[in-house]
Amino acid sequence: MRYVSTRGDAPDLEFEDVLLTGLARDGGLYVPEVWPSFNKAEFEAFIDLDYSALAARVMAPFIGDALPADIYKTLVDDTYREFDHPDVAPLNQIGEDEWVLELFHGPTLAFKDFALQLLGRLFDYALARRGERRTVVVATSGDTGSAAIEAFRDKENLDIFVLHPAGRVSEVQRRQMTTVMSDNVRNIAIEGSFDDCQALVKAMFNDLEFRDNMGLSAVNSINWARVMAQTVYYIKAATALGCAGKPIAFSVPTGNFGDVYAGYVARCTGLAISQLVVATNRNDILARVLSAGEYRIGEVEPTMSPSMDIQVASNFERLLFEIHGRDGGAVKELMAGLQSNGAFRLGEDALEKARQVFDARRVDEDETLATIASVYRDSGAVIDPHTAVGVAAGRACRRDPGHPMVMLATAHPAKFPDAITKAIGVVPELPPGLADLPKRPERYDTLAADLDAIKAYIVSNKAH
Ligand SMILES: *Cc1c(COP(=O)(O)O)cnc(C)c1O
Repeated sequence: MRYVSTRGDAPDLEFEDVLLTGLARDGGLYVPEVWPSFNKAEFEAFIDLDYSALAARVMAPFIGDALPADIYKTLVDDTYREFDHPDVAPLNQIGEDEWVLELFHGPTLAFKDFALQLLGRLFDYALARRGERRTVVVATSGDTGSAAIEAFRDKENLDIFVLHPAGRVSEVQRRQMTTVMSDNVRNIAIEGSFDDCQALVKAMFNDLEFRDNMGLSAVNSINWARVMAQTVYYIKAATALGCAGKPIAFSVPTGNFGDVYAGYVARCTGLAISQLVVATNRNDILARVLSAGEYRIGEVEPTMSPSMDIQVASNFERLLFEIHGRDGGAVKELMAGLQSNGAFRLGEDALEKARQVFDARRVDEDETLATIASVYRDSGAVIDPHTAVGVAAGRACRRDPGHPMVMLATAHPAKFPDAITKAIGVVPELPPGLADLPKRPERYDTLAADLDAIKAYIVSNKAH
């Protein structure tokens, strides 16, 4: 499979180079040159596959011949063996034709493990084969950092630097990152927001000399391989609910537009997704663009769903590419407008295309708490604040009650004990492996949101 940049000016690459690079050299994001597709009979046959067999099958056309078949199979099996539920991504019914898809059974208790556990293994294989080393730099709003650290710690062929916004992640989230003492792991608390962290990482990549000297790799959700891995659970949920050929709706708590875009990719492969709800908290740039057509960056406001406290939704660029007929020049122009004016406006045609499948809703803090409480009261399920945003938005935006609605449960409630306690008066317990997290020693450095300082830090703290 060949991949093209959304801005049309970077060389086409094969899967392995896309994996190791992350961001295209023209500042764009990689997407497959053509969408692989599955027919109804194939979707129906997927019902008989367990999670890792399905993952191997769905990802195969995207990966092409990047790995020998037996190694690929083992690597995918090993990835999903790390999850502590036999179904890997179980469904839990919370209402009439309403389900939550539990994506928090991986090692760091958020959906990010689905992709990053795989990426860690794919990187290891590719770098060993090439005899190369890399420096992985990650910006995190809370969950990507720990998932990436868990996936890349103690690997011999790379270092990982994680930038999180100081004081703006939950204590559990911070400790999951900062208590890992591996030589190749460094945590940096940035005095700023997640958007500042993300902008610093992008700036580092756009400094092509630094990028090449350090062998930088990006594993944020701008990395295509992450989107690819997340596409699998949409197909898994649909087939499990008997929707191999029938319409199904999903509601997705959204920050960087990665997860919900993975749902869009599942639809591009032929899955009958009738609706994708973009669920946002107070940081509602995506709800605003889908309702009014203007994508305008605002100030990031902290909320109880910190992993979605984002104003620059990087993966939205991939949707822009599709709704502009895959015209890289058009995307480049919009992104230039964003760079210079902090905003761009979508044309009627493009907006119409997006609205065919996407709806969006902003959910405020009170509604989030009320949703945690009502889901607990009605079904006994304890959902985390991100999931609650997804449930509230999914209920409010549902187009057709005849189509099953699946809300993505993106994190384990124990990652956000304050919100849960406030909503239902119950303190959610960390799973046994993490019970002593509050007592483990921490290590991290705090830096200003200053590109030169961070570059210098990376140069002097590389272990390899
Ligand atoms: C990362 C994250 C999100 C947002 O996902 P995107 O792919 O950035 O849209 C939502 N919920 C949780 C718990 C997360 O960790």
